[in-house]
Formats: sequence, C-alpha cells, structure tokens
Amino acid sequence: MTLIQQLVKKGVLDKEKATSLEFEIKSSGRREEEVLLEKRIASEGFLFGLKSENLKIPLKEVALEEIPLKTLEFIPEESARFYQMIPISLKDNVLEVGMVYPEDLKVQEALKFLARQGKFSYKICLISLSDHKNLFKKYRSLKREVKKALEELEVEIQAEKIEKRPPTPAEFERLVEEAPISKVMAVLLRHAVEGKASDIHIEPTKEKLRIRFRLLGILHSSILLPIRIHPAVVARVKILSNLRIDETRIPQDGRFTTKVEDKEIDFRVSTFPTTLGEKVAIRVLDPSVGLKPFEKLGLARKNLEATEKAIKKPFGLILATGPTGCGKTTTLYAMMRRLNKEGVNLVTLEDPVEYFIEGVNQSQVRPEIGYDFATGLRHVLRQDPDIIMVGEIRDEETASLAIHAALTGHIVLSTLHTTDVLGVIPRLIDLGIRPYLILPTLSCAIAQRLLRELCPHCRKKVKPKKEIRDWILKELHPHTKRGQSAKGAKIGEASPPSGVGVKGIKPPKPLYIYQAQGCRKCADIGFIGQIGIFEALAMTDELSDLILEGVTEKGIAQEMVRQGMLTMKQDGILKALDGITTIEEVLRVTEE
Ligand SMILES: [Zn+2]
Repeated sequence: MTLIQQLVKKGVLDKEKATSLEFEIKSSGRREEEVLLEKRIASEGFLFGLKSENLKIPLKEVALEEIPLKTLEFIPEESARFYQMIPISLKDNVLEVGMVYPEDLKVQEALKFLARQGKFSYKICLISLSDHKNLFKKYRSLKREVKKALEELEVEIQAEKIEKRPPTPAEFERLVEEAPISKVMAVLLRHAVEGKASDIHIEPTKEKLRIRFRLLGILHSSILLPIRIHPAVVARVKILSNLRIDETRIPQDGRFTTKVEDKEIDFRVSTFPTTLGEKVAIRVLDPSVGLKPFEKLGLARKNLEATEKAIKKPFGLILATGPTGCGKTTTLYAMMRRLNKEGVNLVTLEDPVEYFIEGVNQSQVRPEIGYDFATGLRHVLRQDPDIIMVGEIRDEETASLAIHAALTGHIVLSTLHTTDVLGVIPRLIDLGIRPYLILPTLSCAIAQRLLRELCPHCRKKVKPKKEIRDWILKELHPHTKRGQSAKGAKIGEASPPSGVGVKGIKPPKPLYIYQAQGCRKCADIGFIGQIGIFEALAMTDELSDLILEGVTEKGIAQEMVRQGMLTMKQDGILKALDGITTIEEVLRVTEE
C-alpha cells in the first residue's frame, strides 16, 4: 500500500486530493515522501511512522554522535548519498543500516552488493529523510577528509621522490595546483562555512602546521598538518586570491569567492610574515552570518528605542563603537539595510567592503594611492547622497567632514574607536570637533560586544549561587555604587525598580539563570550563534547642557542614569536572565 493510500484510509487525505497527488508524483518521477513533506500533508514523524508500520521495519532515531567513524567505512560516501542509507552500528559483524527507502529494490541490491564485497551481514531499520540528511554529515568529519587528502598527497610526493631534495620551482607549482592541496583547502573552507566559523588561521609552528577556526568568537585549535605542506598551502591561498607567490617577506591582503555547498561565499585573506614563515588568516564572509537583520542584532528595550529613533531622523550622526570584532560593522550594515529604500542614495566608504548590499553604492578606500576616508568623503558629498556610511572616523579631517555632512542634512553612519559610549563625546572633542557642533549632529552613539547565544533546545535553567545573585542585583541597581540615592526599590522587591536600565523591568522572582549544555541541534556546543549586548546614548537637552559646560565621562555616566540607559553589562545580565546567554559570557566580554 502506498503512503497516499494509507493517508486516505486514515482520513488525512480526501480521494480527490490523493488522485491529484498521485498524478503529480507519477509525472514528476519524484518520491512520494518528498512530495508529501514538501506540501506539508503530514509531519515527517507521522509519515515515517506509517511507513514503518506498513513495511514492518522498525523506525529508528539516530544521533550523529552515536555513529562511530569506523562504522562509516562499510558504506562509501557516494553510495550512502545515492541510495540514502547509512551504517549506524556494528555488532558481531552485523551491520545495522538505516534506510530511507528500504522498499526500493535498487537500494536493496546495492546493499547486498556492498555486503558481499565487504564480507559483512546486515540488518535494516528505517530512518527519516531529515535524519539521513543530518547523519550524512558524519562522512564530512574534517579530520577524516583532510587525512584522506593528505594521504593522497603523501602517495604523490613519494611517487615523485621529491621529498629528499627541495622541489624545483616547476615541481612546486605543480604540487600546489595538484588535487590534494586544493582538496585540503576546499575541505578547510567548507568546514569553516558549515561550522559557521568566522575565521581560519593557518599558522606555522616549529613542527606542525596548525589550523585553527574561530567559532562564535572563540579560537579553537582544530588540526595539525605536516609542516612540509606549509609552503604549498600558503601558495594555494595566494593563487586563489591573486597575491604574489614569490613575495613572502611583506604582508599581503586579498580576497576570493568560491562556491561552498551551492552558496557563493567571499573570503578575505591576509598573509603575515612570522619568524617561522607566513601565517595566513582567512575571514569567512558568509552573508547569512554577517548580514544580520536589524531585529536580530540583540538591540532591546531602551537601546532599541534610542537606535530606532536615531535612524528615523532625517539627518544626524550615528556612531557605533567598540573594539575590533565586537560586531559594530554588522550593526552598521543592518542599519544601512533598514535605510536602503527606493528613492534614497546611500553611499559607503569602506575599508574593506565586507558584504555587498543590493542598491547601495559601496566604495573601497585605497589609502595607499591617496583615496582615504577624508578624500572619499569630499567626493561622496558631490554625489548627491542622502545617507553616507564611513568605515571609521580616526582623524580630524574625516571627523570634521562627517560632522559637516550630518549638519547639512545627511544621515552619517560611522564607527569610532572607543571602548564604551562614555568615551564618544570626549573622543570627538579630541578630534577637534567644537562641542556646539556635536549637539545638533550626534543622534546616537552605540557601544557593543558580542557574546554567545545559548541553544534554546538544551539550555539548563538553574538557580544562581548567592554571590552571583547578589552581583546581578548590584549591577542592575548601581545607584549605591555610584553614591546616588536609590529612587526605586531593589530588584526582586515588591515595588517596581527605577533608575539605570531597570526602568519598568521587573526580573522574575526567584531569579533564574541558564547554563550551556549541548545537544544534537547545536552540535554539542551549547551555543548556536552570537548576539550583541549594547549601550546606547541618545542626545538630549540635558546632555547638550552638559557638553557646553565642559564634559566629563562621569557627567555623561550620570546622564545615562538619568536617561534610563542600559550599560552593556546590564543589557547582558538581562539577556542572561532571559536565557539568551550565560552569566559567564557576560563576564567574559565585559570584565576586561
Ligand atoms: Zn543544544
């Protein structure tokens, strides 16, 4: 009985619909399961449950980590993909094979053949389509693949006997172009993209070539390769990104695009000479990671209010601050995408252009030929812009041009190198901006950090220890710390709290925090991505008076309290109480 017939019998489908579906399946030559799932006729669990009942083959749920790598060897990757089956376990020389289509004769034949060849017997269970898709990743284990590519390389090197003497330039070039090195690189790039790594580091050490990946902000040591292949790997990267292969003494920058899993991904390359040879850093510019929509940045509460207000204003300067890698570029890109509408001329000056945004005039500055932010800005202003994004304000000229542009009716987005928002106004004054010019132009300053976002599927809710609880309450309610009178009640007490950051926010009582665990959905990491914590300072009349009186960071801090702004730490703590992140993460990025 087909699945459709069973669905009709169960009353899930009516006859008419069933006939049209049957026709569609027949004429498209597609599998019944795929079509039913695509049309959301029934859930996958339900369909495969029916199928299991009908075929009398047990349905099994298997987790990726339950399959030993060695077991995989019994069925080659290509067959596993083509026939949609996967070896799950091996006991007493009986291989348990999970199949999506055990009823398919061709699939049965293929398995029989493999069993004869590999001299094993087998038993069959049913697995769902999505489980197969997921389990298939096991074949892609990085180490396995790199090892395989390296073994091929080893064979070739030995065959050519070039290991006993240094390769001639011609041999070297051939080696670099050859499949194994390209394969090693391809595997590394794909692994980075699939694993959502932001950077790949290729580093020579004395004995090994170390490959590290930055995952959710943290650098992980992944594999060690033989140091012999170092020159070939570096050369391969250089060929990809059009850099000079023979130049190893000075740093070089480049970029290349390649297809990974049907997605065009950009990689930004930087080489750097170290005493042990060239180190290569590759930034993965995956738009699905770097081009976050505004709503997903992590802006919340007062911070969101202040930022939204600023981008709705027809002109003004919006500044994002924080150290390198804190996500401020992502924030600016998100704002630009909000502002990028038909009928608006949005021009950028970037160093470098990270992501391409449809409809935005993006320009890469080249300081080495005199095209820097300041020169660029002067030209941009002649381009009849509405909105301008300048990568960074780091000199007096750029600062004054940016302020001028904002004063003359443009929205100007930029970054400034200060650690928090308290430093923004003093820094602008340092850069020669007159205080009375800051007042009408600065719409909003935002500082931020990135921290890891908890996996919602496995995070564990716990009661914080007393010290942590006390620390949370103290940080959310810093009046006493700053020597001011606390106007409101403490968090957790009956009356609503007021003052910094806690206006209108009443944390649940008792207080809970969350811990990272690890599950199938998050590849056992416990975290699924990164999210920003912010502090935003909006220009107010009170702040204006303060600036004219001669501004100090302390004065600005008091104004922030008055505005009811959250500090990054407070924003982080509130996110930890919401289960978005952990207290450890908040401490990691704010207690520096
Ligand atoms: Zn998880």
